[in-house]
Amino acid sequence: MRESETVSNACEAFRNDRGRLLDILWRVQDSLGAINLDSMTLIAEKLAIPVVEVEGVVTFYAFFSEQKQGRIVIRLCEDIIDQHQGMAEIEDAFSQCLGIAPGGTTEDGLFTLLRTPCIGLSDQAPAALINFVPVTHLKPGSVKRLAQALRKNPDPQSLITQYGDGQNAHPLIRSGVRNLIRKRGHMLLGQVPHEAGWQVARQMSPTDIVQRISASELRGRGGAGFRTGLKLRMAARSPALDRVVICNADEGEPGTCKDRVLLTERPQLLIEGMRIAARAIQAKQGIIYLRAEYRYLQPYLESLLQDARMQGQLGRQAGFDIRIQLGAGAYICGEESSLIRSCEGYRGEPGNRPPYPAQSGYQGLPTIVNNVETLCLIPRILSEGEHWFRQTGTAQSPGTKLYSISGDCSKPGIYELPLGTPLRDLLEMAGGQDAAAVQVGGASGEIVAPVNFDRPLSFEALNSAGSIMVFSGERNLLEVVDYFLHFFVEESCGYCTPCRVGNVFLKQGLEKIRQGLAESADLENLRQLSQTIIATSRCGLGHTSPKP
Ligand code: SF4
Repeated sequence: MRESETVSNACEAFRNDRGRLLDILWRVQDSLGAINLDSMTLIAEKLAIPVVEVEGVVTFYAFFSEQKQGRIVIRLCEDIIDQHQGMAEIEDAFSQCLGIAPGGTTEDGLFTLLRTPCIGLSDQAPAALINFVPVTHLKPGSVKRLAQALRKNPDPQSLITQYGDGQNAHPLIRSGVRNLIRKRGHMLLGQVPHEAGWQVARQMSPTDIVQRISASELRGRGGAGFRTGLKLRMAARSPALDRVVICNADEGEPGTCKDRVLLTERPQLLIEGMRIAARAIQAKQGIIYLRAEYRYLQPYLESLLQDARMQGQLGRQAGFDIRIQLGAGAYICGEESSLIRSCEGYRGEPGNRPPYPAQSGYQGLPTIVNNVETLCLIPRILSEGEHWFRQTGTAQSPGTKLYSISGDCSKPGIYELPLGTPLRDLLEMAGGQDAAAVQVGGASGEIVAPVNFDRPLSFEALNSAGSIMVFSGERNLLEVVDYFLHFFVEESCGYCTPCRVGNVFLKQGLEKIRQGLAESADLENLRQLSQTIIATSRCGLGHTSPKP
């Protein structure tokens, strides 16, 4: 098929809808291995938009490429946990075996080797995505065999000789990823009755549903801890003919991988939660914003949405439908206004507030954005009641919370615990009690020293967003901080100067310290610069990037 025909077909598959630009770009890149200027020009013509707009989107997202990539793209996870588990040796082994440095493509056009931030597999590091097929627990000694196997059969799926547990072995997933569920709580990872929440919700008025969720004091599990009931109420009260429910399945905070397990093992609960939220705010449209790192789950999720349509739970008959929007590699799209822009086919740059998404979000409609874990809790609260929910956790942080724990511990994986559990208890369960430091809440969280391990994990005391990274005394914490700053420099969308430039200066200051060249005045300069970045940046990335 000619290149122009491929591009035209991609546009027509989405009815030349400008709002589906990300989907069109994915289709073009999948077919042609790149989105070059000719393709961008043709897309712009088809969508009747300037070519510079298409180019702006292509260059914003890390997973889109203007340069032709190899048929097999190997993305090595460069996250600090993977580095500690030997990613440098694995990268060297790939480089030697393929004869290319990271960023390069082999002369025969077969392989491209890249680095990528956290791919949501810190609990089974070091890991990589090979054409988006996850490959875990890599070893330097196995790289040669892996490359030889791919030369014989370029389908990376052929590398998976043993499927993971649970639904990872489903015919539509067929992944070697393991769930690594170490502790099942009674709310999400224990026995969960099918459709019990919906059966209650369908008998209730939308106002009563909002009231029950408000009374439960459920707070968003994505990090900010905003009250879910309040968000629903704001959206329900915003005058509009339609409203939107978006699931943020873009867990990009380094070290977080618990939504991966919910998407694998509790997707029906998620869909049920979105349907209940839609009934509560009278929404007709739903979107699951799936990070591209979890693309291997997309066929399975699509099949469940189709099943739900066949059963009349979604679609015309239900008055509410859900589509999946695949992201394209941008940490900032975890921020809700950026995520909405991304769903609309734009660069994922954060917006100003007000108006809040609950007032004017996706396509100007009142929109609620909640992460996977929050939406999964909604059916549980509907079926079991707000009192049941509040009996677990603390007064200000009711319910359970999922934690992804990784790094220097003997039992990395997923733990569901009551909010308010001391960090020390979690570390003991995970075999990380001898840690020298623990990073709680990912790169934008905080580093906790052993003297503070008794702090409870809760919104009011120690907010985690689900990521717990354990560092032994053998790790260099300045190296950890250096990586986090590298991460923020790479992920800054560049809109505001304090974040775009300030984080680079912070990193340079830190390098000076690491080289032993800093003076006490440099520390003071770093403190002041940090305060400026925090005070003058536009969004959460700049507000938190100096925290490490
Ligand atoms: Fe973009 Fe950083 Fe400004 Fe946020 S703070 S809008 S990420 S430049």
